[in-house]
Amino acid sequence: MKKHLLPLFTVMAAFAMFGCNNTKVPATEKKTGESVVETAPAETAAPADAQEVAGTKTVKLSNGASVTWIQDNESEKLNPISLFGDVSDSLVESLNMPEGIPASVSTFLLQADGKNILFDAGLGAFGGKMLSRLAALGINADNIDIVYLTHFHVDHIAGLVEKDAAGIDTKAFKNASIYAGKVEYDAWMEHIPKNDLQKMVMELYRDSLHLFAFGDSLPHGVLAIDAIGHTPGHTAFQVSNLLIIGDLMHGYALQKDHPEINSNYDMDKEKSIESRKRIMQYAKDNKLLMAGMHLPPPGFAE
Ligand SMILES: [Zn+2]
Repeated sequence: MKKHLLPLFTVMAAFAMFGCNNTKVPATEKKTGESVVETAPAETAAPADAQEVAGTKTVKLSNGASVTWIQDNESEKLNPISLFGDVSDSLVESLNMPEGIPASVSTFLLQADGKNILFDAGLGAFGGKMLSRLAALGINADNIDIVYLTHFHVDHIAGLVEKDAAGIDTKAFKNASIYAGKVEYDAWMEHIPKNDLQKMVMELYRDSLHLFAFGDSLPHGVLAIDAIGHTPGHTAFQVSNLLIIGDLMHGYALQKDHPEINSNYDMDKEKSIESRKRIMQYAKDNKLLMAGMHLPPPGFAE
């Protein structure tokens, strides 16, 4: 972790992200890097336009809804080549990314029909920044209506939980319904080892948990798509021209041209490859904007 790089990276990321569109950078932020750092997202920040909050980016969808990328990890994230088992030396060389492949831990906020809908909940107590970035966007956790889950790995569900004043695990989103795939739920509840966190989270939300099947049409125009492989019930979601791809890719620069390459996190190698190829082709055929939980900032790919 390059923690000392955080402020600089935050500034650079903000400018890199927004430098090429017509977003106005407030005059005070133009002068020095330090003034930008002082205005970094904080719990007390006033509601701001989405495009002025570092680590976020908002895109309008064809149906008029909007989706905001929210970077959950604190600073720069590079996934090492060693995470991808079956890469030839020549391919590694041609990639020319000796430091690692740019990635992120990301969540996405869909705002549709007056509702706030999250896709995955991020790292939570394990370094997650989503809640503070939501606050900087003017959104309180109690105003999240739905959380859709792509799968049950820790970096996607730990953010559903927070400690209360007494140190007891409690819901981070008190008013949210949780939507999870039945295949994923059954796998984690029944036979995947080391599932303490998954069981605790599902128990917490037992009264507001909805289990879906692939192909189900879910609230606010969301369609659940089989993306099995990374986990037993790994799910992609389509809404309008947006395709949430979950953990289909952990090294976009490598896997966009080589969908046959898995990361070591992919539990079923064959199915992961099949899903990656099929879903990337589906996105291409239908001109969908992909949003991925480990795509490099700003979390979207055409
Ligand atoms: Zn993940």
